[in-house]
Amino acid sequence: MQQLFRQLPSVDKLLKQPQAVDFIQQFGHQAVVEQLRKLVERARQHIQQHQVLPDFLADETALFAELSLQLTQLQQVQLRPVFNLTGTVLHTNLGRGLWSEAAMQAATCAMQNNVALEFDIDEGRRSHRDLYISELVAKITGAEAACVVNNNAAAVLLMLATFAKDKEVIVSRGELVEIGGAFRIPDIMLQAGCKLVEVGTTNRTHLKDYRNAINENTAFLMKVHTSNYHIEGFTSSVLEEELVALGKEFGLPVISDLGSGSLTDMASLGLPAEPMVQQKVAAGVDLVSFSGDKLLGGPQAGIIVGKKVWIDELQAHPLKRVLRCDKVILSALEATLRQYLLPEKLSETLPTLNLLTQSVDLLKIRAEELKEVLGKRLNSRYILQVEPSLAQIGSGALPTEKLPSVAVTIESEKQSDLLALEQRFKQLPTPIIGRFADKKFWLDLRSVAQFEPLIEMLSFNTPLFSKEGQGEIWKK
Ligand SMILES: *Cc1c(COP(=O)(O)O)cnc(C)c1O
Repeated sequence: MQQLFRQLPSVDKLLKQPQAVDFIQQFGHQAVVEQLRKLVERARQHIQQHQVLPDFLADETALFAELSLQLTQLQQVQLRPVFNLTGTVLHTNLGRGLWSEAAMQAATCAMQNNVALEFDIDEGRRSHRDLYISELVAKITGAEAACVVNNNAAAVLLMLATFAKDKEVIVSRGELVEIGGAFRIPDIMLQAGCKLVEVGTTNRTHLKDYRNAINENTAFLMKVHTSNYHIEGFTSSVLEEELVALGKEFGLPVISDLGSGSLTDMASLGLPAEPMVQQKVAAGVDLVSFSGDKLLGGPQAGIIVGKKVWIDELQAHPLKRVLRCDKVILSALEATLRQYLLPEKLSETLPTLNLLTQSVDLLKIRAEELKEVLGKRLNSRYILQVEPSLAQIGSGALPTEKLPSVAVTIESEKQSDLLALEQRFKQLPTPIIGRFADKKFWLDLRSVAQFEPLIEMLSFNTPLFSKEGQGEIWKK
């Protein structure tokens, strides 16, 4: 072994090689030295474990090829694309929706240029960064003004901190939502320094419950959209209109956390109805908050719309400065919202709405195509079928409503074969993410936006596909 260790090259010597000089030109001295040290250390460990020199020390060409690989990997972005075949269109863990062409263009432009973010070009004086969004949202929703923050969780926090610090907020017990990722209405209340006053019961809350809870320390009445669950049976909740009337009686604003907050009539697109921001504004709700990257189909953002007096107060709160959006997000959001000025085109222009409205016939054709390419690749132990499936919108929109869809299902006698296959799918150049149900692995076509690239990847003979043998998954 000592003999082998003595064959390890010295970093100093390697640095003097002509190839190393080229690498230094390209990547800089520091990175090359670091990666050479790493290479030698890897070789040392290899000798310790296997009592032979690693392949990359065979000759200089092999060594510098390995160095090149290490240096290139330094620049490889780890947050990489995946194919979403889970059947959940807005999958929070997979980054929710895709941006529209217009949003991407606007964002790219903002990235590469200075923009008049807080600058009134005509008057040559300071302006406000939320101005364009505010005007646009006013036009679309009928609200007076808007405020934009990092996400809807931030929007709720800002509303609570601005209007309810050291005060009480009345919420129905049926609406104490946990969104996931530690967003719970009671916890956000605590963070904002306000006291949650729960009224009613889990299944039934009446107007008189709110009325009885009002006192001189009440800041506002709050509605939270139960976006990820549904209470059925003997239930009753109070409509926004009724709450607004009660609020007026006591001079209290009504605030609504709408979650996904659609700006278009989902039912007219053939989808399950979802409460619209416009309806809440029309009902007289003082402030409504919703996400930019749920059904709206834009970038991650939280939008608060409502009466100008309240919006002005939100804008003036120090937390707004902490939670504000940058020029790229604001550009993308504006471009997305502008699509709403051409409402009939939305299912073409916004990828999320496009996925949700794809016809089952189209999904069937795609499923057959996927089944065919997979059939050519997979070992005969795997049985492929095209089956009807149920997809969902996701991200807390319409939790109990399923969308008709089509999937390629994969079965195998041994569960371990399916688990191995799931692993292999994840190791592909662009990982494929599906789901397990009924002892099958489901690849749902409703949620995949990049279908052609998926087929292309599976048709392409990457090294991953090339092994064959008893335990192997892929055919040659
Ligand atoms: C999704 C959701 C949130 C959180 O919104 P993000 O944009 O994900 O921060 C808050 N409240 C409700 C009711 C939601 O559905």
